[in-house]
Amino acid sequence: MTEQSSCNGNCIGCALHKGEDPNKKKTLRDLKISQSAIIKEVGGTGSLRQHFLDMGVIPEAQVTLIKYAPLGDPAEYMIHGYELTLRNKDAEQILIGEPYFAEEAESENLHAHTHREDSEKELLTESEHPGFGEGGKYHAKGDGEALPKGTVLTFALAGNQNSGKTTLFNQLTGSNQHVGNFPGVTVDRKSGGIKDHAQTEVTDLPGIYSLSPYSEEEVVSRQFILHEHPKGIINIVDATNIERNLYLTMQLMELEVPICLALNMMDEVRANGGTIDVNKMEDLLGIPVVPISAAKNEGIHELVHHAIHVASYQEKPGRTDFCSSDKNGGAVHRCLHSIMHLIEDHAKAAQIPVRFAASKLAEGDKLVEDALHLSQNEKETIEHIILQMEEERGLDRAAAIADMRFSFIFDLCRQCVVKPKESKEHKFSQKIDKVLTGKWTAIPLFILIMGLVFYLTFSVIGGGLQGLLEMGIGALQSLVDTAMTAGHVSPVIHSLVIEGIFSGVGSVLSFIPIIVVLFLFLSLLEDTGYMARVAFVMDKLLRKIGLSGKSIVPMLIGFGCTVPGVMATRTLASERDRKMTIILTPFMSCSAKLPIYGFFAQAFFPKIAWLIMVIMYIIGILTGIVVALISKKTAFRGEAVPFVMELPNYRLPGIINVLHLMWDKTKDFLKRAFTVILIATIVIWFLRTFNFHFSMVSDSSQSMLSVIAGFLAPLFKPLGFGDWRIVTALITGFMAKESVVSTVTVLFGSVGALLSAYSPLTVFALLTFCLLYTPCVAAVVSIRRELGWKWSSGIVVGQCLVAYAVSGIVALIGLLL
Ligand code: GDP
Ligand code: MG
Repeated sequence: MTEQSSCNGNCIGCALHKGEDPNKKKTLRDLKISQSAIIKEVGGTGSLRQHFLDMGVIPEAQVTLIKYAPLGDPAEYMIHGYELTLRNKDAEQILIGEPYFAEEAESENLHAHTHREDSEKELLTESEHPGFGEGGKYHAKGDGEALPKGTVLTFALAGNQNSGKTTLFNQLTGSNQHVGNFPGVTVDRKSGGIKDHAQTEVTDLPGIYSLSPYSEEEVVSRQFILHEHPKGIINIVDATNIERNLYLTMQLMELEVPICLALNMMDEVRANGGTIDVNKMEDLLGIPVVPISAAKNEGIHELVHHAIHVASYQEKPGRTDFCSSDKNGGAVHRCLHSIMHLIEDHAKAAQIPVRFAASKLAEGDKLVEDALHLSQNEKETIEHIILQMEEERGLDRAAAIADMRFSFIFDLCRQCVVKPKESKEHKFSQKIDKVLTGKWTAIPLFILIMGLVFYLTFSVIGGGLQGLLEMGIGALQSLVDTAMTAGHVSPVIHSLVIEGIFSGVGSVLSFIPIIVVLFLFLSLLEDTGYMARVAFVMDKLLRKIGLSGKSIVPMLIGFGCTVPGVMATRTLASERDRKMTIILTPFMSCSAKLPIYGFFAQAFFPKIAWLIMVIMYIIGILTGIVVALISKKTAFRGEAVPFVMELPNYRLPGIINVLHLMWDKTKDFLKRAFTVILIATIVIWFLRTFNFHFSMVSDSSQSMLSVIAGFLAPLFKPLGFGDWRIVTALITGFMAKESVVSTVTVLFGSVGALLSAYSPLTVFALLTFCLLYTPCVAAVVSIRRELGWKWSSGIVVGQCLVAYAVSGIVALIGLLL
């Protein structure tokens, strides 16, 4: 406070503030690195603003600027003891008080209001540390009614991202789980019975921070709890970051479903000398609280015990009211209670718990308002009540409600949580981040890490395994072949099995090692917390094409194989980003196209084969960028998801989680290989083997496929390769890209024949076409699973058109040269 203190702020352009508008309010953008300030006002609108508030960016909170991403945007802030990313544009919407450096403030004793829990640290040091499983004494109520015997106890597992939900879910269910979708959306829905407890089922809800109606995940979660009526909720809370995690807890409690709180990561809290008075917390919340460590499998047994207890006796939370009548003049309290009175009947009719409905109405939640079917008169009265509350409280509705929840949480934490000064894990994470998100090191290291992942996947581990598997399939194929020949099986069946099923499904199956290994690395990167950093580092670049940082990963995987790339888009938070990323991923030239480039480039451009390959990759990326820019302006208008994201501490991923993920993805892929892909293979085999009189042909130039190809060939005349043989190759390439090469070799007979038939320019246009035209069957099937038939067929047609246009441009440029 040396410089600032020499100006009282009333200056009109004093030496300090020259060129600066003295009335301009300070925003988060005015913070310097490691400077702190108190938030005064949270601007913005709609989902972005609600997101700010839900993440704890509320008036009166203290924020510190940690660093900017290497490209200068977004920035990383510390708030309520955790790290949060905000884009600069968004940070400008948050008004702050005078910035200060924490050390100065401490020495000058300036921070009257920094952290509410600081003042009363001593309060708890005497308290005994509760051990794992010592909680859950909170069953004294006994007013619940036991459910009839034999009722299936269904649970919703809810919690923030990175709270250890997946780890807990795997501990609870073991290998007994199945994956599906929530109705109508592509959000994974995993369920499974609890180990050793028949008649139970846990459903893993998406990782969410709040029950606001803005993100698909949040809507899905609350629909699930409201409409599918689970008998209980298991709410997992990261105890190292308890304030922000409890924010969701309070909204879950308002739903009046029996709930049991799992305080996870207690091993870390304990190791750092922190304490949580579990019994006190149970009293204050009126629900059982069980300290656990999901990763170390501690306390899980007790958790299950208490969860089953609350569910089978239908013990509702002992408290749903978190507003206090004497806080801030009780404005929020009065407002919520008046609304509750007013809507009681409507809420009952709509089967929405009245307290939840009231607080959501007060926040301005349109979905709840519609579901309640209020009369115009009631709507106006409620609006009036809320306006009055805003006036009295001096905060707008959303901020007032968020503040109400956080005040309760701070009060609660003051009474039962002693936070360690700074955890080892956090210190360690900050050290790693100096390098991994450092200004000069972040991007090179990112390239290095991804390079290593690719190298290991495609050439060492995955590639090796793929070779082995191909050999295995080949051996099996020749075994079956010999057996069939010896057994005089009809030639049709023989051909179907050997040329249809084995070569089609076989070539698709050989993807499996690559998928498994790629997902091994991906889950390592995701679970350690590195992916969140990647998104932070790359966000600025991707924003330029209308996406957010997280989309970089699926697209990068697309260079390996489109299938796992598309599958990896599941980690993206918004539907819009997911769709757009899926559309762009196939433009990233996958490794199956390499043999095509290799073959043609060797034949036609032997001196500069490598350059041709590089150019292909570049054309793919550029086309992707152009498509992105166009769709940003048309089909995908609007902003990428707000980048208000937590940067969790680096943690070692659990081996069980990793294995589960790999198994899930493999199963998923196997299922597809044996359904849709099998059918597609048989269709292509059929077209290639029969003529229109349905008799088998020995020469494929007589087959239906060649007739169809001949029919399509004139279409490709303008591009220079209107030849049925090439078109046949392209059609078989739809099965698996690499088969373009084998088909061409078979149909042309020799490379010499090919060389005499085409000019290098035409081949270049052909390569461009191969690069960009429809993704292979396996990829299309993956896309269909994420986006449905309409989108996947749209993508097939769209890409063929793009391919046609781009290779047309290539041909045209060639003519002009
Ligand atoms: P999710 O995002 O909520 O599904 O969280 P995950 O289950 O993927 O866990 C995130 C990270 O925290 C992983 O690296 C886990 O290994 C780790 N983790 C989960 N539970 C615990 C725990 O109780 N203690 C510790 N130390 N780490 C944990
Ligand atoms: Mg998870």
